[in-house]
Amino acid sequence: MPPPAAQTLPPPAVPPPAGSPLVDPFGRAITYLRVSVTDRCDFRCIYCMSENMTFLPRAEVLSFEEIDRLASAFIRRGTRKLRLTGGEPLVRRGILDLVRRLGRHLGNGLDELTLTSNGSQLAGMAADLAAAGVRRINISLDTLDPDDFARVTRWGRLHQVLEGIAAASAAGLHVKLNMVALAGINEAQIEPMLAFAAAGGHDLVMIETMPLGEIGGDRVDHYLPLSRVRERLATRWTLIDLPDQTGGPARYVRIAETGQRLGFITPLTHNFCEGCNRVRLTATGQLYMCLGQDDVADLRRVVRATADDGALDAALDEAISRKPRGHDFVIDRRGAAPAVRRHMSVTGG
Ligand code: SAM
Ligand code: SF4
Repeated sequence: MPPPAAQTLPPPAVPPPAGSPLVDPFGRAITYLRVSVTDRCDFRCIYCMSENMTFLPRAEVLSFEEIDRLASAFIRRGTRKLRLTGGEPLVRRGILDLVRRLGRHLGNGLDELTLTSNGSQLAGMAADLAAAGVRRINISLDTLDPDDFARVTRWGRLHQVLEGIAAASAAGLHVKLNMVALAGINEAQIEPMLAFAAAGGHDLVMIETMPLGEIGGDRVDHYLPLSRVRERLATRWTLIDLPDQTGGPARYVRIAETGQRLGFITPLTHNFCEGCNRVRLTATGQLYMCLGQDDVADLRRVVRATADDGALDAALDEAISRKPRGHDFVIDRRGAAPAVRRHMSVTGG
């Protein structure tokens, strides 16, 4: 018997059902969303910003309602981890309201709600963050020397951050310290930072400078390959490679003598893209599918145009279908323009 005519037609072009996981063309499930809640900051770190930054007009920045709607759509589609970043997330007015609002998803699709912060405002906010369901926080700290700290952050003061770290620990938050490796600036601080992290029970993660945005200086001068840091550390400590558990760019070792974990984020010397599970939403609702590429999807246009979550789902599918295989960072041409023109504070580190 001939098959019914309907079977010979091509399948209808229907979007996948709402709630189906977001999977990119390379089979990577998107389970991690980073949201930059502001491009503003109370510091001006030399590797991140120039001293005179022009920030976005407020009307361009997503409202808390809009961030919530977008984050909730991602969580419906399989996002299990949400990180708020910036700029400095804790300088956005009313940020605790947003954290509480997003915290309602914890245990209800979302496994983890966390932040990356410079720590300057944390002394007054750590307890509220913990009460809202935050359990872990990444705090940037490049040096324990007060003069060098002021030099690196331009506007920051070390005591603010140390007080913030103490408050976070007292509130029961697990603290991971991010330290950008800067040749000629904080190389001598690696051992003191390891000791500080061990004493406080914090993880320490070292980061290579990435060529993101004009910073009014030459980043190449301060570029310090972590392969060199690792070699130096290995002359003094026994470094045991740990299996990758984060799906992220950090590779961890355990220092046998102290038992502590040390991470290395080496975007320039190691390609971390194969296991990439993340996308980044800017403060203006632009979704970057890759930190190191310029392709972007305008989700603000969708949330401001329609209350229809079906249209939003379709926009997420379309965006994720464009996630590239990997990044194109290069930092070795002295004087060359940054590989990616936007600052880390725009995309959200
Ligand atoms: N203000 C917060 C902070 O400093 O933690 C969150 C945003 S900041 C952009 C996130 C992380 O990116 C920080 O750990 C910072 O040190 C790092 N970062 C900024 N610019 C960078 C660059 N060009 N290369 C590597 N890391 C960078
Ligand atoms: Fe601000 Fe963080 Fe950039 Fe430093 S690294 S200027 S604290 S956004």
